[in-house]
Amino acid sequence: MIVGAGFAGYQTARHLSRTLRGRAEIVLLNPTDYFLYLPLLPQVTAGVLEARRVTVSLPGTLRQVRLVLGQAERIDLAARTVHYSDPEGGDGELTYDRLVLSVGSVSKLLPIPGVAENATGFRGLPEALYLRDHITRQIELAASCGDPAECAARSTFVVVGAGYTGTELAAHGKMFTDALVRKQPGWEPGRSPRWLLLDVADRVLPGLSERLARTADEVLRKRGVDVRVKTSVKEATRDGVLLDTGEFVDSRTLIWCVGVRPDPLVSELDLPTEKGRLVVTPQLGVPGHPEVFACGDAAAVPDLTRPGEFTPMTAQHASRQGKVAARNVAASLGLGTPAAYRHNDLGFAVDLGGVKAAANPMGVPLSGPVAGAVTRGYHLAAMPGNRVRVAADWLLDAALPRQAVQLGLLRSWQVPLDTASPELVHTPGGAGPRGKSSGGPSGGASSGPSGTSTGPSSDDSSGKE
Ligand SMILES: Cc1cc2nc3c(=O)[nH]c(=O)nc-3n(C[C@H](O)[C@H](O)[C@H](O)COP(=O)(O)OP(=O)(O)OC[C@H]3O[C@@H](n4cnc5c(N)ncnc54)[C@H](O)[C@@H]3O)c2cc1C
Repeated sequence: MIVGAGFAGYQTARHLSRTLRGRAEIVLLNPTDYFLYLPLLPQVTAGVLEARRVTVSLPGTLRQVRLVLGQAERIDLAARTVHYSDPEGGDGELTYDRLVLSVGSVSKLLPIPGVAENATGFRGLPEALYLRDHITRQIELAASCGDPAECAARSTFVVVGAGYTGTELAAHGKMFTDALVRKQPGWEPGRSPRWLLLDVADRVLPGLSERLARTADEVLRKRGVDVRVKTSVKEATRDGVLLDTGEFVDSRTLIWCVGVRPDPLVSELDLPTEKGRLVVTPQLGVPGHPEVFACGDAAAVPDLTRPGEFTPMTAQHASRQGKVAARNVAASLGLGTPAAYRHNDLGFAVDLGGVKAAANPMGVPLSGPVAGAVTRGYHLAAMPGNRVRVAADWLLDAALPRQAVQLGLLRSWQVPLDTASPELVHTPGGAGPRGKSSGGPSGGASSGPSGTSTGPSSDDSSGKE
Protein backbone atom coordinates (compact mmCIF):
# COMPACT_ATOMS: atom_id res chain seq x y z
CA MET A 1 0.00 0.00 0.00
CA ILE A 2 1.29 3.45 -0.99
CA VAL A 3 -0.05 6.54 0.79
CA GLY A 4 0.27 9.65 -1.37
CA ALA A 5 0.62 9.84 -5.17
CA GLY A 6 3.01 12.74 -5.63
CA PHE A 7 6.48 12.53 -7.14
CA ALA A 8 7.62 9.79 -4.76
CA GLY A 9 4.39 7.77 -4.51
CA TYR A 10 3.67 7.89 -8.22
CA GLN A 11 7.11 6.53 -9.11
CA THR A 12 6.87 3.87 -6.39
CA ALA A 13 3.55 2.67 -7.81
CA ARG A 14 4.77 2.77 -11.39
CA HIS A 15 8.01 0.88 -10.79
CA LEU A 16 6.50 -1.57 -8.34
CA SER A 17 3.77 -2.54 -10.79
CA ARG A 18 6.40 -3.11 -13.49
CA THR A 19 8.47 -5.28 -11.16
CA LEU A 20 5.69 -7.26 -9.53
CA ARG A 21 3.63 -7.81 -12.74
CA GLY A 22 0.47 -8.76 -10.88
CA ARG A 23 2.14 -10.96 -8.23
CA ALA A 24 0.91 -8.69 -5.44
CA GLU A 25 -1.91 -6.21 -5.14
CA ILE A 26 -0.77 -2.56 -5.17
CA VAL A 27 -3.13 -0.10 -3.52
CA LEU A 28 -2.57 3.65 -3.89
CA LEU A 29 -4.37 5.92 -1.43
CA ASN A 30 -4.58 9.55 -2.58
CA PRO A 31 -7.17 12.32 -2.09
CA THR A 32 -7.24 13.17 -5.81
CA ASP A 33 -7.37 10.98 -8.91
CA TYR A 34 -4.35 12.70 -10.37
CA PHE A 35 -0.62 13.20 -9.89
CA LEU A 36 0.13 16.93 -9.70
CA TYR A 37 3.22 18.27 -11.45
CA LEU A 38 3.90 21.03 -8.91
CA PRO A 39 6.82 22.80 -10.68
CA LEU A 40 4.44 24.11 -13.36
CA LEU A 41 1.93 25.54 -10.87
CA PRO A 42 3.17 29.16 -11.26
CA GLN A 43 2.26 28.89 -14.94
CA VAL A 44 -1.30 27.92 -13.99
CA THR A 45 -1.62 31.06 -11.87
CA ALA A 46 -0.16 33.20 -14.63
CA GLY A 47 -2.63 31.83 -17.18
CA VAL A 48 0.01 30.15 -19.35
CA LEU A 49 -1.29 26.63 -18.68
CA GLU A 50 -4.81 25.45 -17.98
CA ALA A 51 -5.14 23.61 -14.65
CA ARG A 52 -5.72 20.10 -16.01
CA ARG A 53 -2.52 20.28 -18.05
CA VAL A 54 -0.38 19.90 -14.92
CA THR A 55 -2.23 16.82 -13.75
CA VAL A 56 -1.74 13.21 -14.82
CA SER A 57 -4.58 10.74 -14.35
CA LEU A 58 -3.69 7.98 -11.87
CA PRO A 59 -6.13 5.31 -13.12
CA GLY A 60 -5.27 6.27 -16.71
CA THR A 61 -1.52 5.76 -16.32
CA LEU A 62 -1.17 3.20 -13.51
CA ARG A 63 -3.19 0.33 -14.96
CA GLN A 64 -2.03 -2.37 -12.51
CA VAL A 65 -2.64 -0.25 -9.42
CA ARG A 66 -5.89 0.00 -7.40
CA LEU A 67 -6.59 3.64 -6.62
CA VAL A 68 -8.48 4.36 -3.40
CA LEU A 69 -9.67 7.96 -3.28
CA GLY A 70 -9.16 9.27 0.21
CA GLN A 71 -6.86 10.76 2.82
CA ALA A 72 -5.11 8.70 5.45
CA GLU A 73 -6.35 9.96 8.82
CA ARG A 74 -4.59 7.51 11.10
CA ILE A 75 -2.09 4.71 10.70
CA ASP A 76 -1.98 1.84 13.16
CA LEU A 77 1.49 0.38 12.73
CA ALA A 78 0.83 -2.50 15.14
CA ALA A 79 -2.39 -3.63 13.43
CA ARG A 80 -1.01 -2.71 9.95
CA THR A 81 -4.08 -0.70 9.06
CA VAL A 82 -4.67 2.70 7.52
CA HIS A 83 -7.87 4.57 8.36
CA TYR A 84 -8.94 7.05 5.72
CA SER A 85 -11.72 9.46 4.85
CA ASP A 86 -13.13 9.56 1.33
CA PRO A 87 -13.98 12.68 -0.69
CA GLU A 88 -17.68 12.47 0.27
CA GLY A 89 -17.15 12.35 4.02
CA GLY A 90 -17.27 8.56 4.38
CA ASP A 91 -14.46 6.58 5.93
CA GLY A 92 -12.75 3.27 5.48
CA GLU A 93 -9.92 1.04 6.60
CA LEU A 94 -7.24 -0.72 4.57
CA THR A 95 -4.77 -3.34 5.71
CA TYR A 96 -1.30 -3.81 4.30
CA ASP A 97 1.67 -6.15 4.21
CA ARG A 98 4.05 -3.40 3.08
CA LEU A 99 3.48 0.32 3.52
CA VAL A 100 5.14 3.18 1.63
CA LEU A 101 4.55 6.62 3.12
CA SER A 102 4.93 9.40 0.56
CA VAL A 103 2.53 12.07 1.78
CA GLY A 104 4.73 15.05 0.85
CA SER A 105 4.55 18.42 2.56
CA VAL A 106 2.34 21.41 3.29
CA SER A 107 2.99 25.17 3.52
CA LYS A 108 5.26 26.22 6.37
CA LEU A 109 3.81 28.91 8.63
CA LEU A 110 5.63 31.32 10.88
CA PRO A 111 4.11 32.83 14.00
CA ILE A 112 3.56 36.26 12.42
CA PRO A 113 0.35 38.07 13.34
CA GLY A 114 -2.28 38.11 10.60
CA VAL A 115 -0.47 35.83 8.17
CA ALA A 116 -2.68 32.76 8.62
CA GLU A 117 -5.80 34.86 7.99
CA ASN A 118 -4.55 37.10 5.21
CA ALA A 119 -2.00 35.17 3.16
CA THR A 120 -2.51 32.54 0.49
CA GLY A 121 -0.15 29.57 0.24
CA PHE A 122 1.13 28.00 -2.93
CA ARG A 123 1.19 24.25 -2.47
CA GLY A 124 -1.80 22.96 -4.45
CA LEU A 125 -4.01 23.40 -7.48
CA PRO A 126 -6.86 25.12 -5.56
CA GLU A 127 -4.50 27.91 -4.42
CA ALA A 128 -3.03 28.31 -7.91
CA LEU A 129 -6.51 28.62 -9.43
CA TYR A 130 -7.76 30.92 -6.70
CA LEU A 131 -4.77 33.23 -7.21
CA ARG A 132 -5.24 33.35 -10.98
CA ASP A 133 -8.79 34.62 -10.46
CA HIS A 134 -7.91 36.85 -7.52
CA ILE A 135 -5.07 38.59 -9.38
CA THR A 136 -7.25 39.12 -12.46
CA ARG A 137 -10.02 40.51 -10.26
CA GLN A 138 -7.69 42.92 -8.46
CA ILE A 139 -6.53 44.39 -11.77
CA GLU A 140 -10.12 44.67 -13.04
CA LEU A 141 -11.28 46.35 -9.82
CA ALA A 142 -8.25 48.66 -9.83
CA ALA A 143 -9.01 49.69 -13.41
CA SER A 144 -12.51 50.85 -12.54
CA CYS A 145 -11.97 52.32 -9.09
CA GLY A 146 -12.07 56.06 -8.54
CA ASP A 147 -9.85 56.16 -5.45
CA PRO A 148 -6.15 56.26 -6.48
CA ALA A 149 -5.02 54.80 -3.10
CA GLU A 150 -7.32 51.79 -3.42
CA CYS A 151 -6.35 51.38 -7.02
CA ALA A 152 -2.66 51.29 -6.03
CA ALA A 153 -3.32 48.78 -3.24
CA ARG A 154 -5.26 46.46 -5.54
CA SER A 155 -2.48 46.51 -8.13
CA THR A 156 0.24 45.75 -5.55
CA PHE A 157 1.17 42.09 -5.01
CA VAL A 158 3.48 40.85 -2.26
CA VAL A 159 5.26 37.50 -2.46
CA VAL A 160 7.10 36.35 0.66
CA GLY A 161 9.92 33.84 0.14
CA ALA A 162 12.33 34.05 -2.79
CA GLY A 163 13.00 30.33 -3.13
CA TYR A 164 12.20 28.77 -6.51
CA THR A 165 8.45 28.92 -5.91
CA GLY A 166 8.28 32.60 -4.88
CA THR A 167 10.82 33.65 -7.53
CA GLU A 168 8.93 31.90 -10.34
CA LEU A 169 5.61 33.23 -9.10
CA ALA A 170 6.80 36.84 -8.93
CA ALA A 171 8.47 36.58 -12.35
CA HIS A 172 5.39 35.07 -14.00
CA GLY A 173 2.97 37.20 -11.98
CA LYS A 174 4.50 40.49 -13.11
CA MET A 175 4.27 39.43 -16.76
CA PHE A 176 0.69 38.31 -16.22
CA THR A 177 -0.51 41.55 -14.62
CA ASP A 178 1.36 43.66 -17.21
CA ALA A 179 -0.55 41.72 -19.89
CA LEU A 180 -3.83 42.18 -17.99
CA VAL A 181 -3.52 45.97 -17.72
CA ARG A 182 -2.87 46.27 -21.45
CA LYS A 183 -6.42 45.00 -21.94
CA GLN A 184 -8.00 47.48 -19.55
CA PRO A 185 -9.31 50.47 -21.51
CA GLY A 186 -9.43 52.69 -18.43
CA TRP A 187 -5.91 51.89 -17.23
CA GLU A 188 -3.80 55.01 -16.66
CA PRO A 189 -0.87 54.80 -19.12
CA GLY A 190 2.52 54.43 -17.48
CA ARG A 191 1.11 53.04 -14.22
CA SER A 192 2.46 49.53 -13.83
CA PRO A 193 1.24 46.85 -11.41
CA ARG A 194 3.68 46.51 -8.54
CA TRP A 195 5.18 43.18 -7.41
CA LEU A 196 7.33 42.87 -4.30
CA LEU A 197 9.43 39.77 -3.62
CA LEU A 198 10.72 39.56 -0.05
CA ASP A 199 13.21 37.25 1.61
CA VAL A 200 15.10 37.30 4.88
CA ALA A 201 18.18 35.93 3.10
CA ASP A 202 20.65 38.25 1.42
CA ARG A 203 19.76 37.07 -2.11
CA VAL A 204 17.02 35.41 -4.13
CA LEU A 205 17.12 31.60 -4.52
CA PRO A 206 19.05 31.26 -1.24
CA GLY A 207 19.28 27.46 -1.44
CA LEU A 208 20.62 27.42 -5.00
CA SER A 209 23.88 28.43 -6.67
CA GLU A 210 24.93 32.09 -6.63
CA ARG A 211 25.08 32.18 -10.42
CA LEU A 212 21.44 31.04 -10.72
CA ALA A 213 20.49 33.65 -8.14
CA ARG A 214 22.29 36.43 -10.05
CA THR A 215 20.54 35.55 -13.29
CA ALA A 216 17.14 35.38 -11.63
CA ASP A 217 17.72 38.64 -9.75
CA GLU A 218 18.66 40.43 -12.97
CA VAL A 219 15.60 39.17 -14.85
CA LEU A 220 13.27 40.05 -11.96
CA ARG A 221 14.61 43.60 -11.56
CA LYS A 222 14.60 44.27 -15.32
CA ARG A 223 11.00 43.18 -15.42
CA GLY A 224 10.15 45.63 -12.67
CA VAL A 225 9.79 43.30 -9.68
CA ASP A 226 10.78 45.10 -6.47
CA VAL A 227 13.18 42.55 -4.91
CA ARG A 228 13.73 43.16 -1.19
CA VAL A 229 16.31 40.91 0.42
CA LYS A 230 17.02 40.84 4.18
CA THR A 231 13.39 41.85 4.61
CA SER A 232 10.50 40.10 6.25
CA VAL A 233 6.89 40.58 7.28
CA LYS A 234 6.09 41.84 10.76
CA GLU A 235 2.33 41.78 10.44
CA ALA A 236 -0.28 41.14 7.79
CA THR A 237 -3.70 42.79 7.74
CA ARG A 238 -6.58 42.87 5.27
CA ASP A 239 -5.28 46.22 4.01
CA GLY A 240 -1.65 45.34 3.53
CA VAL A 241 1.63 44.18 4.94
CA LEU A 242 3.86 45.73 7.60
CA LEU A 243 7.49 44.99 6.78
CA ASP A 244 10.18 44.62 9.43
CA THR A 245 11.73 47.82 8.05
CA GLY A 246 8.69 49.68 9.39
CA GLU A 247 7.24 50.32 5.92
CA PHE A 248 3.56 49.50 5.40
CA VAL A 249 2.72 48.23 1.91
CA ASP A 250 -0.93 48.70 0.92
CA SER A 251 -1.99 45.53 -0.84
CA ARG A 252 -4.86 43.05 -1.13
CA THR A 253 -2.57 40.15 -2.06
CA LEU A 254 -0.04 38.37 0.12
CA ILE A 255 1.36 35.12 -1.27
CA TRP A 256 3.19 32.92 1.20
CA CYS A 257 6.08 30.94 -0.31
CA VAL A 258 8.39 30.65 2.71
CA GLY A 259 8.84 26.94 2.30
CA VAL A 260 7.22 23.70 3.30
CA ARG A 261 7.04 21.39 6.27
CA PRO A 262 6.30 17.64 6.16
CA ASP A 263 2.67 16.56 6.06
CA PRO A 264 1.32 16.52 9.67
CA LEU A 265 0.39 12.83 9.30
CA VAL A 266 4.07 12.04 9.89
CA SER A 267 4.15 13.61 13.35
CA GLU A 268 1.11 11.56 14.37
CA LEU A 269 2.99 8.27 13.91
CA ASP A 270 5.00 8.59 17.11
CA LEU A 271 8.20 7.63 15.29
CA PRO A 272 11.55 9.45 15.29
CA THR A 273 11.60 12.52 13.06
CA GLU A 274 14.22 14.99 11.87
CA LYS A 275 12.82 18.51 11.39
CA GLY A 276 9.40 16.88 11.12
CA ARG A 277 10.46 14.37 8.46
CA LEU A 278 10.26 10.67 9.22
CA VAL A 279 13.71 9.19 9.90
CA VAL A 280 14.57 6.40 7.46
CA THR A 281 17.63 4.33 6.58
CA PRO A 282 19.52 4.86 3.30
CA GLN A 283 17.35 1.97 2.01
CA LEU A 284 14.27 4.13 2.85
CA GLY A 285 13.13 1.70 5.57
CA VAL A 286 11.68 2.92 8.86
CA PRO A 287 13.91 1.57 11.67
CA GLY A 288 12.14 -1.06 13.77
CA HIS A 289 9.41 -1.54 11.13
CA PRO A 290 10.79 -3.67 8.30
CA GLU A 291 7.42 -3.53 6.53
CA VAL A 292 7.30 0.29 6.39
CA PHE A 293 9.14 2.55 3.92
CA ALA A 294 9.03 6.31 3.46
CA CYS A 295 10.31 8.70 0.78
CA GLY A 296 9.98 12.19 -0.69
CA ASP A 297 9.43 15.38 1.30
CA ALA A 298 7.92 13.44 4.21
CA ALA A 299 11.08 11.41 4.85
CA ALA A 300 14.49 12.42 6.22
CA VAL A 301 16.62 10.44 3.78
CA PRO A 302 20.36 10.41 4.52
CA ASP A 303 22.23 12.09 1.66
CA LEU A 304 25.05 9.67 0.91
CA THR A 305 26.68 12.23 -1.40
CA ARG A 306 26.92 14.73 1.51
CA PRO A 307 27.53 12.68 4.66
CA GLY A 308 25.70 13.94 7.73
CA GLU A 309 23.01 15.75 5.70
CA PHE A 310 19.55 14.79 4.46
CA THR A 311 18.36 15.05 0.87
CA PRO A 312 16.59 18.34 0.13
CA MET A 313 12.85 18.49 -0.45
CA THR A 314 12.82 18.52 -4.25
CA ALA A 315 10.96 16.72 -6.98
CA GLN A 316 14.23 15.40 -8.34
CA HIS A 317 14.97 13.53 -5.11
CA ALA A 318 11.36 12.49 -4.43
CA SER A 319 10.84 10.80 -7.77
CA ARG A 320 14.17 9.00 -7.65
CA GLN A 321 13.51 7.88 -4.09
CA GLY A 322 10.17 6.52 -5.30
CA LYS A 323 12.00 4.21 -7.69
CA VAL A 324 14.34 3.00 -4.94
CA ALA A 325 11.39 2.44 -2.59
CA ALA A 326 9.75 0.27 -5.28
CA ARG A 327 12.93 -1.74 -5.69
CA ASN A 328 13.31 -2.26 -1.95
CA VAL A 329 9.66 -3.21 -1.40
CA ALA A 330 10.01 -5.79 -4.18
CA ALA A 331 13.25 -7.03 -2.60
CA SER A 332 11.48 -7.42 0.74
CA LEU A 333 9.02 -9.71 -1.06
CA GLY A 334 11.88 -11.80 -2.46
CA LEU A 335 12.19 -10.14 -5.88
CA GLY A 336 15.63 -8.64 -6.56
CA THR A 337 18.06 -7.04 -4.15
CA PRO A 338 17.68 -3.88 -2.06
CA ALA A 339 19.66 -0.71 -2.75
CA ALA A 340 20.61 2.40 -0.83
CA TYR A 341 19.44 5.77 -2.13
CA ARG A 342 22.27 7.80 -3.60
CA HIS A 343 21.81 10.58 -6.11
CA ASN A 344 24.02 13.46 -7.20
CA ASP A 345 22.08 16.64 -7.91
CA LEU A 346 21.66 17.12 -11.65
CA GLY A 347 21.22 20.87 -11.30
CA PHE A 348 18.17 23.07 -11.14
CA ALA A 349 15.95 24.96 -13.55
CA VAL A 350 13.99 28.08 -12.60
CA ASP A 351 11.41 29.24 -15.13
CA LEU A 352 11.18 33.04 -15.17
CA GLY A 353 8.40 33.43 -17.72
CA GLY A 354 8.46 34.22 -21.43
CA VAL A 355 11.68 32.81 -22.87
CA LYS A 356 13.65 33.55 -19.71
CA ALA A 357 14.98 31.04 -17.19
CA ALA A 358 18.00 30.33 -15.04
CA ALA A 359 19.34 26.78 -15.15
CA ASN A 360 22.47 24.80 -14.36
CA PRO A 361 22.00 21.33 -15.87
CA MET A 362 24.94 19.13 -14.82
CA GLY A 363 26.51 22.23 -13.28
CA VAL A 364 26.61 24.20 -16.59
CA PRO A 365 25.20 27.68 -15.90
CA LEU A 366 22.67 28.86 -18.50
CA SER A 367 20.54 31.95 -18.85
CA GLY A 368 18.23 33.62 -21.38
CA PRO A 369 16.37 31.72 -24.13
CA VAL A 370 18.77 28.74 -24.01
CA ALA A 371 17.95 28.24 -20.34
CA GLY A 372 14.27 28.76 -21.19
CA ALA A 373 14.36 25.99 -23.80
CA VAL A 374 16.31 23.64 -21.50
CA THR A 375 13.87 24.30 -18.63
CA ARG A 376 10.79 23.59 -20.71
CA GLY A 377 12.42 20.52 -22.25
CA TYR A 378 13.27 19.30 -18.76
CA HIS A 379 9.69 19.72 -17.54
CA LEU A 380 8.29 17.87 -20.56
CA ALA A 381 10.72 15.01 -20.02
CA ALA A 382 10.00 14.87 -16.27
CA MET A 383 6.20 14.83 -16.59
CA PRO A 384 4.82 11.30 -16.58
CA GLY A 385 2.02 12.26 -19.01
CA ASN A 386 0.02 15.11 -20.62
CA ARG A 387 3.12 16.41 -22.40
CA VAL A 388 1.46 17.16 -25.72
CA ARG A 389 -1.22 19.28 -24.05
CA VAL A 390 1.38 21.21 -22.05
CA ALA A 391 3.45 21.84 -25.20
CA ALA A 392 0.29 22.91 -27.06
CA ASP A 393 -0.54 25.44 -24.32
CA TRP A 394 2.99 26.84 -24.52
CA LEU A 395 2.63 27.27 -28.29
CA LEU A 396 -0.76 28.95 -27.87
CA ASP A 397 0.66 31.24 -25.22
CA ALA A 398 3.48 32.26 -27.55
CA ALA A 399 1.04 33.02 -30.37
CA LEU A 400 -2.02 34.48 -28.62
CA PRO A 401 -2.67 37.06 -25.91
CA ARG A 402 -3.33 35.76 -22.38
CA GLN A 403 -6.97 35.03 -21.61
CA ALA A 404 -8.05 37.64 -19.06
CA VAL A 405 -11.07 35.98 -17.50
CA GLN A 406 -11.77 35.16 -13.86
CA LEU A 407 -14.25 32.36 -13.24
CA GLY A 408 -14.59 33.19 -9.53
CA LEU A 409 -15.28 29.59 -8.50
CA LEU A 410 -13.09 29.70 -5.39
CA ARG A 411 -13.15 32.04 -2.39
CA SER A 412 -10.25 32.75 -0.05
CA TRP A 413 -11.72 30.73 2.87
CA GLN A 414 -11.70 27.66 0.62
CA VAL A 415 -7.91 27.81 0.29
CA PRO A 416 -6.68 28.44 3.86
CA LEU A 417 -2.96 28.81 4.41
CA ASP A 418 -3.01 26.70 7.56
CA THR A 419 -4.10 23.35 6.19
CA ALA A 420 -3.01 19.74 6.18
CA SER A 421 -4.66 19.28 2.77
CA PRO A 422 -3.50 21.93 0.25
CA GLU A 423 -4.56 19.63 -2.56
CA LEU A 424 -8.25 19.93 -1.64
CA VAL A 425 -10.78 22.75 -1.82
CA HIS A 426 -12.22 23.25 1.64
CA THR A 427 -15.95 23.04 2.14
CA PRO A 428 -18.11 24.20 5.05
CA GLY A 429 -17.72 21.64 7.80
CA GLY A 430 -14.63 20.14 6.12
CA ALA A 431 -14.29 16.71 4.53
CA GLY A 432 -12.91 15.04 7.64
CA PRO A 433 -10.49 15.88 10.44
CA ARG A 434 -7.60 16.41 8.03
CA GLY A 435 -9.83 18.45 5.75
CA LYS A 436 -9.79 21.11 8.42
CA SER A 437 -7.04 23.36 9.66
CA SER A 438 -3.93 21.53 10.79
CA GLY A 439 -4.24 23.31 14.09
CA GLY A 440 -1.63 25.99 13.66
CA PRO A 441 1.92 26.10 12.47
CA SER A 442 4.56 23.94 13.99
CA GLY A 443 6.02 27.22 15.19
CA GLY A 444 2.93 27.70 17.33
CA ALA A 445 0.87 30.46 15.69
CA SER A 446 -2.87 30.02 15.75
CA SER A 447 -5.01 29.75 12.65
CA GLY A 448 -6.77 32.96 13.47
CA PRO A 449 -10.04 33.99 14.95
CA SER A 450 -12.20 33.70 11.89
CA GLY A 451 -11.84 29.92 11.60
CA THR A 452 -10.16 30.34 8.26
CA SER A 453 -10.55 26.82 7.04
CA THR A 454 -13.90 25.56 8.16
CA GLY A 455 -16.23 27.77 6.17
CA PRO A 456 -17.09 31.30 5.20
CA SER A 457 -16.38 33.64 8.05
CA SER A 458 -18.77 36.36 9.09
CA ASP A 459 -16.44 39.00 7.71
CA ASP A 460 -16.35 37.50 4.25
CA SER A 461 -16.89 40.99 2.88
CA SER A 462 -13.37 41.93 4.01
CA GLY A 463 -10.61 42.86 1.58
CA LYS A 464 -10.33 39.21 0.60
CA GLU A 465 -13.25 37.69 -1.14
C1 LIG B 1 4.92 25.48 -6.50
C2 LIG B 1 6.03 24.49 -6.35
C3 LIG B 1 7.03 24.42 -7.30
C4 LIG B 1 8.06 23.50 -7.17
N1 LIG B 1 9.03 23.45 -8.13
C5 LIG B 1 10.02 22.54 -8.04
C6 LIG B 1 11.02 22.45 -9.06
O1 LIG B 1 11.02 23.23 -10.01
N2 LIG B 1 11.95 21.47 -8.94
C7 LIG B 1 11.98 20.61 -7.87
O2 LIG B 1 12.86 19.73 -7.81
N3 LIG B 1 11.07 20.67 -6.90
C8 LIG B 1 10.08 21.61 -6.95
N4 LIG B 1 9.14 21.69 -5.98
C9 LIG B 1 9.21 20.76 -4.83
C10 LIG B 1 8.62 19.44 -5.23
O3 LIG B 1 7.39 19.62 -5.87
C11 LIG B 1 8.46 18.55 -3.99
O4 LIG B 1 9.73 18.36 -3.41
C12 LIG B 1 7.86 17.21 -4.40
O5 LIG B 1 6.54 17.40 -4.83
C13 LIG B 1 7.89 16.20 -3.24
O6 LIG B 1 7.32 15.02 -3.69
P1 LIG B 1 6.50 14.09 -2.70
O7 LIG B 1 6.08 12.91 -3.48
O8 LIG B 1 7.24 13.89 -1.45
O9 LIG B 1 5.24 14.99 -2.31
P2 LIG B 1 4.07 15.54 -3.24
O10 LIG B 1 4.49 15.61 -4.65
O11 LIG B 1 3.58 16.76 -2.58
O12 LIG B 1 2.96 14.41 -3.11
C14 LIG B 1 2.32 14.09 -1.91
C15 LIG B 1 1.06 13.35 -2.24
O13 LIG B 1 0.51 12.83 -1.04
C16 LIG B 1 -0.87 13.12 -1.00
N5 LIG B 1 -1.26 13.15 0.41
C17 LIG B 1 -0.98 14.09 1.34
N6 LIG B 1 -1.51 13.75 2.53
C18 LIG B 1 -2.13 12.56 2.35
C19 LIG B 1 -2.87 11.70 3.20
N7 LIG B 1 -3.06 11.97 4.47
N8 LIG B 1 -3.40 10.57 2.66
C20 LIG B 1 -3.20 10.27 1.35
N9 LIG B 1 -2.51 11.04 0.51
C21 LIG B 1 -1.98 12.18 0.99
C22 LIG B 1 -0.99 14.46 -1.73
O14 LIG B 1 -2.31 14.67 -2.19
C23 LIG B 1 -0.01 14.25 -2.85
O15 LIG B 1 -0.62 13.60 -3.93
C24 LIG B 1 8.09 22.61 -6.07
C25 LIG B 1 7.08 22.68 -5.10
C26 LIG B 1 6.06 23.61 -5.23
C27 LIG B 1 4.98 23.66 -4.19
